[in-house]
Amino acid sequence: MNENLERDLAAQTQNFRSLIAEYCRLESVAAQNRMMKETADWVENLLKDTGFETQQLSVAGAPNYVYGYLKGKSDFTLLLYNHYDVQPETPVELWDSAPFEVTERDGKLFARGISDNKSELISRICAIRAILATQGELPISIKWILEGEEEIGSLHFDAMTKQYADLLKADGALWEGNGFNEKGQAVVTVGFRGMLYVEYSIERLKVDAHSGNAHALPSAAWRLLKALSSLKDDQGKVLIPGFYEQVREPNELEKQALRDKVDLEQEQKVRAMYGIDSFLDDKTGYDLELEVYDPTANIAGFLTGYTEQGVKTVLPAKAMAKMDFRLVPEQTPDDILAKLRRHLDGHGFTDVQVRKLGGAEPVVTPIDSAFVQTIKSVGRAFTEQESEISPLSGGTLPLLEAMKKNIGLLGVSASGNPVYYGSGAHAPNEHIRISDIERAIRFNVFLFTQLGSSR
Ligand SMILES: [Zn+2]
Repeated sequence: MNENLERDLAAQTQNFRSLIAEYCRLESVAAQNRMMKETADWVENLLKDTGFETQQLSVAGAPNYVYGYLKGKSDFTLLLYNHYDVQPETPVELWDSAPFEVTERDGKLFARGISDNKSELISRICAIRAILATQGELPISIKWILEGEEEIGSLHFDAMTKQYADLLKADGALWEGNGFNEKGQAVVTVGFRGMLYVEYSIERLKVDAHSGNAHALPSAAWRLLKALSSLKDDQGKVLIPGFYEQVREPNELEKQALRDKVDLEQEQKVRAMYGIDSFLDDKTGYDLELEVYDPTANIAGFLTGYTEQGVKTVLPAKAMAKMDFRLVPEQTPDDILAKLRRHLDGHGFTDVQVRKLGGAEPVVTPIDSAFVQTIKSVGRAFTEQESEISPLSGGTLPLLEAMKKNIGLLGVSASGNPVYYGSGAHAPNEHIRISDIERAIRFNVFLFTQLGSSR
C-alpha cells in the first residue's frame, strides 16, 4: 500500500469512531419498527456523501431498502449486502451502559447492533473513502443493498429481489461478513444453514382451573410437553419420519475445510464463555465441526401456567412453544413442516396447532468456485496465512435463498467486519474490540483493490 493510503487509513480509523457512534444512536429495532425511516435516510446520506448514486427501494410492508452504485475502473461489479436494523436491546437491565450510546470500556466499544451489523457498513465505507481519497476512483464497481428487516427474517427480500433484479445484477456478492479468527486467519464463510421456525399452541380448557381439579381435567402443559418430547430421542436424534431424508453428506472439500478449521484452544474459550465443561456428547475437534451438518430441533421458548414469584396452584388451560429447526443442505422448510405435522398427527397430537413463522433454505456456494477461490487467496495474501473456509455456518441468512433464485448470485462472507467470537451479537453488552477496527478497514481496502487487479 502506498504512503498516502497509509496516512488516510489512520484518518479513516478515527472517522470510524464518530460514524459508528452516530449510526448506533439510531434505534433501528425492526421488531418494534423503531426509527426505521430515519436510519434508512441516514444510511442513504452516508452512501451519497461517499460518492454513491443512491435511491431507496420500496416494497409494500417493508422498511425501505437503501441502494447505492458507484462505478469503478474495472468492469467487475461487486454486490455488497448489509442490514441497518438491529435486535431489540431487551433485557436492558443486563447492559452495563446505555444500549444505543457507543461506550468505550476495556478497549471495547459497546452498543446494540455494533457487531451485527453496523460496524461492517462503516468499515466498508471507510475503506472506500480511503481509496477514493488517494486514488480518485474505485478499482471495481460496487453495488450496495441494505435492508431494514434482516433481524426479523428478511421477510420481503424475496419480493424486493424479484422487483429489482436488474438493478442488483453483479459478478460476485459479499454477504454480511465475519471477522478474523483468533489465529489471525481471514475467514471465508461459503454456506449458511436454512431454518424452519414454528410456533406450537394448544388449548385444553376454556379457562385456567384450580389445580385441585388436576385429577379430572386435562393439562395443556403436559400435553405440549409430551408432544415436544416425541420429537427427539435421548441421543438428540430427531424422530420426525423422513427428517433426515434430504440431508446430504459434506463433500471432500467441505470435510477438508472442517478439518482445517479445528482449533482446540478456541473451543476452550467458547466453553469458558458459556461456563460448560464439554460440548454435547463430549464432541471435540473434527467430530464437533462435522456436527454443523446435523440439522437441529431447538426449543426457543416455552410458556404455560404460572411462572412468576412464589406459589400459585393453577392448572393451565393453554400452552405454547416456539421452535427453530436449523436445516442443512438439501432440506427445505416446507418439506420439514409437512413432515412435522404428519408426525404430530401420527402420534395423536392433532390438538397441537403448528404455525410457521419463518423459513429459509440452506444456501451453499461451492468451495471450488472461482469467486470463493479469489476471496480465499485475497485473505492469504493479506494475512500471509492460509484462509479459513467455513463450509457451513450454524446460523441462517434467509436472504441468500432470494439472492440465489432471483438474481442468480451466490456469494461469501469475508473478513471485513471488526467482530470476534465474543462480540455477543443479539446479547446484552454487544461490542467490538477497538484493536480490530483498523484491520477490518485495511482488509476491505485490500479486498476491493485485489478484485480490481485480478480481472
Ligand atoms: Zn443478527
